[in-house]
Amino acid sequence: MTYERENIKRMEGYTSGEQPDSPDIIKLNTNENPFPPGPAVAQALAGISVNDLRRYPQPTASHLRDCLAIYHQLGPTSGPDNIIVTKGGDELLRLAISTFVEEAESIAVAAPGYSLYDVLATAHGCSIQKFDLDNHWKLPENFASKLNQSGAKICFVVNPHAPSGQLCSVAELRQLANDFQGVLFIDEAYVDFVDPEIGYDSTPLINEFDNVLILRTFSKGFSLAGLRIAYGLGAQSLIDPMQYKTKDSYNTDFIAQTLATAAIENYQCAAETWSYVRNQRDYLKNQLDKIGFISNPSQSNFLLVTVPAPFEAENIYQSLKQKGILIRYFNLPRLQDKLRISIGTEAENNILITILKEIIS
Ligand SMILES: *Cc1c(COP(=O)(O)O)cnc(C)c1O
Repeated sequence: MTYERENIKRMEGYTSGEQPDSPDIIKLNTNENPFPPGPAVAQALAGISVNDLRRYPQPTASHLRDCLAIYHQLGPTSGPDNIIVTKGGDELLRLAISTFVEEAESIAVAAPGYSLYDVLATAHGCSIQKFDLDNHWKLPENFASKLNQSGAKICFVVNPHAPSGQLCSVAELRQLANDFQGVLFIDEAYVDFVDPEIGYDSTPLINEFDNVLILRTFSKGFSLAGLRIAYGLGAQSLIDPMQYKTKDSYNTDFIAQTLATAAIENYQCAAETWSYVRNQRDYLKNQLDKIGFISNPSQSNFLLVTVPAPFEAENIYQSLKQKGILIRYFNLPRLQDKLRISIGTEAENNILITILKEIIS
């Protein structure tokens, strides 16, 4: 006997990257920050007493939202009411789908993208329309009119894009938000690693449009993937139904709220790691280029490298794994000859290069 709904019975679950226990593994497979959170976060953690856990947490993480409004310099027309704090970015994705999409409707994704979108949509019971990115991993031509024709209720765009690292400009997003009739969901999980000289900042879009929802997370840039905390930014008409109706009453816990607040109040500390990662990104890209593993210029904390013939991406992935280095191979269209490598510390990156050279010699 099974009690599952039909679509749950039929669907497959999300395949997460491997999370090995061994500290000896060089882990470059799930885009974590190679450095721990800064001393202010450690101090905040040490300052938590078990007695603090007796009471329920603040239901909408209001103190953290106040800090985030300052961090993003929201105002004068927007502020904490334009922010929802969620249990990881993944919860925000689920809330957006369950709050804005009827089961008979569809979501659209620029493909390839984050496979969790498909899983969440299928679990919800709506359908998914995929629009292929162009050869340079840029958004499809005439994307807005294609989306409008499809009738999609939400369009998910990862920016900078995963797994390519390609960044779409704010001007392009603004045009898309203007032309698209549904909700434009900009997934900025990796935005902290964008070169500051580019001056990318999409947050003004939440004042200009009532259909832009931006995802930010503490998992990647702020080294807090284990804590499960993230947030969304958008017009109040998008935020309110999720904040006051569809999210769990106490969706983020006291520890997560406290540590995320410390992280954002001391963001300069995380910002030093972003700059380090950008330098290592250039270094690793150059080193890999030299041995024929060419990659797209990345604005993220990973590189998508093309494995040169006669080598096969899956074999290289397996060989590295045998040597204790984990990277990511996706057995998906357009990615079969590619590997996604998270940027590690200088030492980790050097070991990767040395071992990769051994494997191909
Ligand atoms: C990591 C990631 C997220 C969110 O991750 P959380 O850990 O749930 O905050 C969202 N989108 C993409 C593309 C990601 O890589």
